[in-house]
Amino acid sequence: MRRPNSIVIAIDGPAGAGKSTVAKLVAKRLGYLYVDTGAMYRAVALKALRLGMDINDEVMMSQLAQMTDIALRQQSDGNVQVLLDGEDVTEAIRTPDVSEASSVVSAHLGVREALTAKQRLLAEQGGVVMEGRDVQTVVAPDAEVKIFLTASLEERAKRRWLEMRQRGVDIPYEQVLQDLKERDERDSTRSVAPLRKAPDAVEIDTTGMTIDEVVDKIVELARQKAISLKGVKEG
Ligand code: C5P
Repeated sequence: MRRPNSIVIAIDGPAGAGKSTVAKLVAKRLGYLYVDTGAMYRAVALKALRLGMDINDEVMMSQLAQMTDIALRQQSDGNVQVLLDGEDVTEAIRTPDVSEASSVVSAHLGVREALTAKQRLLAEQGGVVMEGRDVQTVVAPDAEVKIFLTASLEERAKRRWLEMRQRGVDIPYEQVLQDLKERDERDSTRSVAPLRKAPDAVEIDTTGMTIDEVVDKIVELARQKAISLKGVKEG
């Protein structure tokens, strides 16, 4: 069993629910490692797009995922640098095209197997906040704290649109809303590791909540869990 102060916190939910922002801050508060599993799927998608490969080709995409070196390097400010075969692609993986392609690529079993193996190695160490779609159900079903983060579609689209505008990406709000809707639909209905809340997860609807409120709630749940595990260990 992992030490009580090095548990795994799994945060899943649909696109734009605030997972990255919240997970990053929770990790910072607890001194944990932050792992963005979506960034890994995005990196594979970016490589496929750059190589002009057919992202619907399961065999090719699975081979590509196996051959690709993806590293997440935590920075001192809490942000994470994403390295694709050694190249910094932190910004390049955040375009609408890559969002869409990552959702297609991630539905292939072989791609998931390759990336899930990498993610499990990171989760095994403990002291990790890992976010994505299938962390609490597939990657780390034994995670001590499981959070399912949601928000209304409109709220999520608004947040994503504002975030893109801040990054200088000019895209109509309606387009962001439509893209999110399609991605959610694909991520939730695929046959392999669909987006799903684990039965023992705590669901937090972040609509109308501040980031700090959400972070406080998760940190509190983690602290309670750590205390109860300590009790089990000592008792
Ligand atoms: O979280 P993010 O929006 O960056 O993820 C991009 C895409 O990667 C998602 O739409 C989803 O298709 C895929 N993904 C996944 N499983 C994860 C994380 C992300 O299938 N654990």
